[in-house]
Amino acid sequence: MNLVLLFDPDFIDNERSLVTLTGRRKEHVLSVCRVKAGDTLRVGRLNGNTGSGKVESVSDQAVVLKVKLDSPPPEPLPLTLILALPRPKALKRCIEVITALGVKKIFIIQSFRVEKSYWSSLALSAGELREHLLLGLEQACDTVLPSIEIRKRFKPFVEDEVPLLIKGTRPLVAHPQAEKTCPYDSPTPITLAIGPEGGFIPYEIGLLQIQGFEPVTLGKRILKVEHAVPALIGRLF
Ligand code: SAM
Repeated sequence: MNLVLLFDPDFIDNERSLVTLTGRRKEHVLSVCRVKAGDTLRVGRLNGNTGSGKVESVSDQAVVLKVKLDSPPPEPLPLTLILALPRPKALKRCIEVITALGVKKIFIIQSFRVEKSYWSSLALSAGELREHLLLGLEQACDTVLPSIEIRKRFKPFVEDEVPLLIKGTRPLVAHPQAEKTCPYDSPTPITLAIGPEGGFIPYEIGLLQIQGFEPVTLGKRILKVEHAVPALIGRLF
């Protein structure tokens, strides 16, 4: 936790800028950061500014901070991610790293080789997704919650929604077998589609190409989805 995220109910005295930390955040700052009165922590208000929090008091029930929120969060990454639903464990890791890297728009989609049982996983519940989004924000000292949208039908999504979604961006689909290598340091916003553990099938690659997606590869080494995500994003920006 590199930044303590603050939520509206934490603000107990707006005039004096006092907030209380309870639960997981209180445990973390006490047991990992070992804070005491007078110490300063990096804090940020969800979807708002970042800044510092001076520890006013510490007790078993709560840690009280006086906060100064005067800096904007880091710039978002100009990238929209379309992710075929990976296995639940990988999904959690992907959400955290995607958030930490600054992606603000995420679509989780069905594709032919997505295991059907993954759709009933708890990892897809709003609560679980939010938990991993928050962990990604805390990691990267960001405050702006990404949006996650779920699309369970590949063809209508690609044909009806994607044309609008990719406007003003360069659409790429990560595909190990592609002839073109993935570009570096993109000067333009990107929409990036990443396949499931079994990869996109040729029909899906074809549908994406009709919409203007260029298949691109990172080379012959086939990476796990949760490793491909940061490798691709790190190379593109
Ligand atoms: N057997 C699948 C195949 O050959 O397409 C492997 C899929 S890989 C585990 C899951 C996804 O990660 C791929 O669909 C792709 O989007 C991305 N990926 C993994 N390695 C890649 C590479 N070397 N180049 C481009 N994309 C890659």
